[in-house]
Amino acid sequence: MGNIMSDYIKEAEGSLLHTYNRYQIVLDKGEGVYLYDLEGKKYLDFVAGIAVFALGYSNDEYKEAIKAQADKLLHTSNYYYNVPAIEAAKRIKKMSGMDRVFFTNSGAEAIEGAIKTARKYGFLKDGRTDHEIIAMNHSFHGRTMGALSVTGNPHYREAFEPGIGNIRFADYNDLDSVKANVNDKTCAILMETVQGEGGLTPATEEFLCGVREICDERDILLILDEIQCGMGRTGYDFAWQKYGVKPDVMTSAKALGCGVPVGAFMMTEKVGAHSLVAGDHGTTYGGNPFACAAVNKVLEIFERDDISGHVRETAPYLWDKLDDIMKKHPSIVEHRGAGFMQGLVFDRPVAPVINKALEKGLILINAGSNILRFVPPLVIEKENIDEMADILDGCIED
Ligand SMILES: *Cc1c(COP(=O)(O)O)cnc(C)c1O
Repeated sequence: MGNIMSDYIKEAEGSLLHTYNRYQIVLDKGEGVYLYDLEGKKYLDFVAGIAVFALGYSNDEYKEAIKAQADKLLHTSNYYYNVPAIEAAKRIKKMSGMDRVFFTNSGAEAIEGAIKTARKYGFLKDGRTDHEIIAMNHSFHGRTMGALSVTGNPHYREAFEPGIGNIRFADYNDLDSVKANVNDKTCAILMETVQGEGGLTPATEEFLCGVREICDERDILLILDEIQCGMGRTGYDFAWQKYGVKPDVMTSAKALGCGVPVGAFMMTEKVGAHSLVAGDHGTTYGGNPFACAAVNKVLEIFERDDISGHVRETAPYLWDKLDDIMKKHPSIVEHRGAGFMQGLVFDRPVAPVINKALEKGLILINAGSNILRFVPPLVIEKENIDEMADILDGCIED
């Protein structure tokens, strides 16, 4: 490493709060599915800023849209209407089949909104203030106190207890475990349609449909967190669309803005009419015209270019390539996931593989210590997958 990057890294370690063990590169610019560091080294990117840059880097149409909005108006507050938010909400409704949209600034904030929606829905139903939410073990929903409280990883929560309370954890893909936790106080069941950080595990059809049934029988809200697995990542605009069930409330973020920080929680008309009203919830920046101009353009491109269709078509190629690599390396014990959200489970920590790949110009990331996670830009092509597989193959030591 030359001096330019190491000087910046030294400065960063003296000023930024040390909440991440960062890889030792300073990224400078992106083009398509490639990133460049400050010293001009090129990297093939299979992380996409953690499932954010669905359309790749430096997409001209997208850049034009946010530049044009920057010239016009960045922010209004939610006391006034703005056209980009109205249009973005209309597109989200069409894409998701949900009826009501609330824009946030992040994924965690979308989860907070979903939790408040569920509690208010329960409160209006029976007047109780002791409602419970069932969340899943190995889930990840974000780092704010509410989102952390429903994150099924005790290690993330321990030092910050007590959380918001009245949360029960069930085992993912285990319907009996969910049933054992349901009672009169349950107002919502919350899960990722495909678990991301927890290990790239898709919900089984039996599980998701079974949970939907429980929710229908008892008027409990099904909240699906589509922050990572949504926006085309599994080959469907939203991952649940493959299952033939529909959530009552859902969350989105990450690829929704393709680089501009934005999230959303959405709900059906029924939930919208029986939950949050004026004064119940708000945000200063959420739904600002700048972020919504980005969302608008992203959704326009998604629909016009059938990004989800491209994933359905191309992801099996990644699947086969990773399967081949697994067969060659006994240290890889499992391959799982859906679409462009795949994981290779190793019998040992994957940090050495990631570091070696970085040296060779390939950006990869983990999910937990033993899983290599593949969440590339959705516009990735077969030749990029070949390039990745060639590099990766040489980085694994058994
Ligand atoms: C990333 C993520 C979040 C949190 O989103 P932030 O924007 O980091 O707050 C929540 N849920 C899932 C499934 C995620 O992958």
